[in-house]
Amino acid sequence: SPNVTQSFSTNDFSDVIAADKAHVWHHLTQHKQYESTDPRIMIEGKGMRLWDATGREHLDGVSGGVWTVNVGYGRESIADAVRDQLVKLNYFAQSAGSIPGAQFAERLISKMPGMSRVYYVNSGSEANEKAFKMVRQIAHKRYGGKKHKILYRERDYHGSTISTISAGGQFERNAQYGPYTPGFLEVPHCLEYRTQWDVENYGERAADAIEEVILREGPDTVGAICLEPVTAGGGVITPPVGYWQRVQEICRKYDILLHIDEVVCGVGRTGKWFGYQHYGIEPDFVTMAKGVASGYAAIACLVTNEKVFDLFKEDATDPLAMFRDISTFGGCTAGPAAALENLRIIEDEGLLDNTTAMGDRLMANLNALADKHAVVGQARGLGLFCGLELVSDRASKTPAPEAQVQAVVADCMRQGVIIGATARAIPGFNNTLCLAPALIATADDIDAITHAIDEALGNVFG
Ligand code: PMP
Repeated sequence: SPNVTQSFSTNDFSDVIAADKAHVWHHLTQHKQYESTDPRIMIEGKGMRLWDATGREHLDGVSGGVWTVNVGYGRESIADAVRDQLVKLNYFAQSAGSIPGAQFAERLISKMPGMSRVYYVNSGSEANEKAFKMVRQIAHKRYGGKKHKILYRERDYHGSTISTISAGGQFERNAQYGPYTPGFLEVPHCLEYRTQWDVENYGERAADAIEEVILREGPDTVGAICLEPVTAGGGVITPPVGYWQRVQEICRKYDILLHIDEVVCGVGRTGKWFGYQHYGIEPDFVTMAKGVASGYAAIACLVTNEKVFDLFKEDATDPLAMFRDISTFGGCTAGPAAALENLRIIEDEGLLDNTTAMGDRLMANLNALADKHAVVGQARGLGLFCGLELVSDRASKTPAPEAQVQAVVADCMRQGVIIGATARAIPGFNNTLCLAPALIATADDIDAITHAIDEALGNVFG
């Protein structure tokens, strides 16, 4: 049991709840359905635990709901670092530099051999948009506008703006928002459990499907491919053996820039600094957001290698031959100040090793659940990022209905454990439970999370 408690007593938050109900438009929420319930207002957090306005304690199995708070709640050293920086200088436009901006860039690049430049923005969507803009500009600069098409993968997600949903492989998120930005093309997903090709070297076959799209479109029209190292919200899809090596070969063969979306996997989530570092990939663009400052400040980064950077400075006589782009809040110093301290914590507390060890424990526990409950189709994961795909029937792999999957999430919540699930993303396949505890998780935390899932599966599926 936890040795920390909330600092507030049995406060009355009815005014807060009334204000929220009257005026806050919540993310991903059907407000007609929501009207009859009181909003859950989170008040305080410490480590892996949260307390809501009713004083209820929750063990957080998803790091702030969307895999963000990698170093856990209540980090006073991050708050101190941000405060110190804010009273010194809170902001100046990023056309100038800042102390934490320069220092964090140097520290970050030291974790990313082969990469060299950091572009500061505010969100994962924005980081991805900036990379897309760079690809388009490179197409104009070098290829007369031809090599402008950008490939994305079925089931991947890259953000909520019109261009990032145009690069989105989760149909239900995009369906109501067309027309889309032209020039984005889908390649098949690589989830071996839901095999699209009945072959032995599945990873290579799944990657070859990308080459087929390139050849269909014409390699001289394709500029880049954007992929998640492990597909997150699309079902925690760990890549099959041989996949990434082949993807890299294809990119080299056709001179296609490789953009890795590390918004979820970045900064420790998978047990290495970046997800792509498990596979020996050499990306041209890496985008990251959630774990950069663990949600203590809104900061995201687009990191490029020197090859990309050089293309934007090669013609000094033309003032327009630069990356003609700005992000106002990319100049906030709170972001890199928080990110620097976040990185120090991960390093000094050995959180990458903890993530690997606790990730192994989580996978072992999930595999034990698979042995026990027929409704588990497959457990998969990398580090502290795991998924449990639920099926109504193991032989046919018929996905469990979304309502039942959500009932498991609700039952865990009732037990005081917060877990997630793929939701309203892919028609018929919103059937994977998602787990991403903070990188500080202990063996007891991991066991408590999987114990709650065990109970919930029993309660919902009998
Ligand atoms: N890429 C991936 C892989 C994501 O999971 C997300 C957010 N869940 C984004 C991009 C978009 O990030 P943001 O919500 O910060 O715009």
